[in-house]
Amino acid sequence: MRALVTGGAGFIGSHLVERLLAEGYSVTVLDDLSGGRLENLDGVRDHPGLRVIVGDVRDRAVLQAALEKVEIVFHLAAVVGVPRVLADPLRAIRVNVEGTERVLEACAERGISVCMASSSEVYGKGVRWPAGEADDLQLGPPTVARWAYAASKLLDEHLAMAWARRGLRVSVVRYFNVYGPRADPHGYGYVIARLMDQALRGEPLTVYGDGRQTRSFIYVEDAVEGTLRAGWLPVAFGQIFNIGHPEEISILALAERIRLISGSRAPIRFLPFSEVYGPDFEEVPRRVPDVSKARVLLGFEARVTLDDGLQRTWEWWRTCRRV
Ligand code: UDP
Repeated sequence: MRALVTGGAGFIGSHLVERLLAEGYSVTVLDDLSGGRLENLDGVRDHPGLRVIVGDVRDRAVLQAALEKVEIVFHLAAVVGVPRVLADPLRAIRVNVEGTERVLEACAERGISVCMASSSEVYGKGVRWPAGEADDLQLGPPTVARWAYAASKLLDEHLAMAWARRGLRVSVVRYFNVYGPRADPHGYGYVIARLMDQALRGEPLTVYGDGRQTRSFIYVEDAVEGTLRAGWLPVAFGQIFNIGHPEEISILALAERIRLISGSRAPIRFLPFSEVYGPDFEEVPRRVPDVSKARVLLGFEARVTLDDGLQRTWEWWRTCRRV
């Protein structure tokens, strides 16, 4: 079997590629390296089953070449992470929407199944927590650029559901704050990557706002397992799944834990949101997944505790990360 991983040189993508190769797949990676890095694939660079194509997922010729002999696609290529989206919302919308449109159409034409990455960002400010896949969504207005990401991913989800109605075998995974080795301090996996970079440099750990906002973090190995099940199991087709860990933590408590694990003696520095993101910014005060649908339909549950995952991530940061 050959799988295509779009965004395969990115943080989550590269872990997925490693796992697919370990499962005996041949893997094609399509990545434009705008957020991903070839070094993320260093561990499998010489693997005979790996083929890497550097190119834009929106380019039809490139996509056609990437889909050669492929039976399953994991579509992760996107502009992700609040800072990247704020830096260029137009690019984020275009890459995320046009990219997904091309991938889904190409897969439908060829009868290839797809698992598409979305984000817990689509819940926006949330209607209730823990949030379930069938819940209403609450996004802020288009004058606040942050919501461009949620809106683009939401449109991607609609595209997936529309194609599913036309017979495409497609599933959607909504990731809830994935973290782990190789997380990108400028993009996805932002807060943990940033705090670990700061700890490594002996700089103050930056907490935005009062630090009472909460998130639920899932270790990348778990996120990969959930993604594979959503891609593999026929019960997942036409469905959307939260892929997250139900453990909730405030960002201040997270910073304190990272300080402890890293042995950093630098203080915690509070920064107002307006100073970091500018005046037109809305924060998501809380985010927790309801994980029951993935448990019941996919038999998937995140296994790695936050403490264990942070330890493993720090170990990688300490030994491998070039800051
Ligand atoms: N955050 C923080 N310090 C940082 C980076 C982020 O306090 O150096 C906060 C951010 O404001 C948010 C949380 O950490 O409340 C998670 O941020 P991230 O950008 O990782 O993900 P998202 O906001 O998309 O959940």
